[in-house]
Amino acid sequence: MNAFVTRIQEECDLELTAGRMDTLQVNIGLKCNMSCIHCHLACGPDREEEMVWDTMLAVVDAANLIHPDLVDITGGAPEINPHFRAFIAELRRHGHAVQVRTNLTAMLDMGLDETTAFLRDHQVHLVASMPCYLEENVCRQRGKGTYEKSVEVLQKLNSLGYGIDPELSLSLVFNPGGPFLPPDQVQLEVDYRRELKERFGIDFTKLYTITNMPIGRFWRDLDRDEKADEYMKLLVDGFNCHTVDGLMCRHQISIGWDGTIYDCDFNLALGLPVGDEDTDSILDFKPALLEGRAIASGMHCFGCTAGSGSSCAGALL
Ligand code: SF4
Ligand code: SF4
Repeated sequence: MNAFVTRIQEECDLELTAGRMDTLQVNIGLKCNMSCIHCHLACGPDREEEMVWDTMLAVVDAANLIHPDLVDITGGAPEINPHFRAFIAELRRHGHAVQVRTNLTAMLDMGLDETTAFLRDHQVHLVASMPCYLEENVCRQRGKGTYEKSVEVLQKLNSLGYGIDPELSLSLVFNPGGPFLPPDQVQLEVDYRRELKERFGIDFTKLYTITNMPIGRFWRDLDRDEKADEYMKLLVDGFNCHTVDGLMCRHQISIGWDGTIYDCDFNLALGLPVGDEDTDSILDFKPALLEGRAIASGMHCFGCTAGSGSSCAGALL
């Protein structure tokens, strides 16, 4: 038993086990047009891993079997996968609610007008990375020119009704620019709303604050700067029992580009699949064997339970 599970058992009197699969998260590839310094999957232009069509069809079959509330498509930059649109169209044809996690700038590379029109026509919800409303902070994390491009894409999405029409949600994601916890999500959303409206006339649906996980590029850089121990202590000291019930691993599975099933995107990044070889592939999906499973965990999990908690849908409290 690891320190995270022990803490949950002893301090919260809970077990780290899975409940209903509300969300099917699907990582359709690690290729990305950017190479952000905090990327827990170390994505970038040189990554070649991508989900093939047959695996996508297996995901659609899985969704038809369990009827999740949401199919959440991520990457890399998911827009880059050659089957991106066909996959979404197939999921929508079967009536599934679909959400895409976008870095915004990839839409410019893939054709802004066509991509945004397609997403609107298929009523795809969007979650967009926008780690700050200030240009300097965005460019430091995501590269020079990113802020300007992100603003252009957000304005385009607004012009199509995204962030305004309740059927076309456009949520933004903040993550800290260093080894500290995110500020209060509600207050930061007020600041984002004011600043983006005043500066660029931008509207959005909701802001999600996400803690930087102690894995991937972010962790490597902390380690290099000899700040890794300090950050881990911050996460462990910030452990909060009230976040445990909402942990995303308890309510979703994450499917990797090759069809391997994980409890979450972070376990995917670490190569920690669910269960065993009988249960860990979407190509042979057995949902009954995944219900109530013990979740694979480690020290990185303290990133989800510190302070107000963190998940792909923002703070847990
Ligand atoms: S954080 Fe997102 S946009 Fe940045 S490199 Fe990773 S996948 Fe790409
Ligand atoms: S890292 Fe994944 S498995 Fe660990 S607590 Fe967070 S969501 Fe759950």
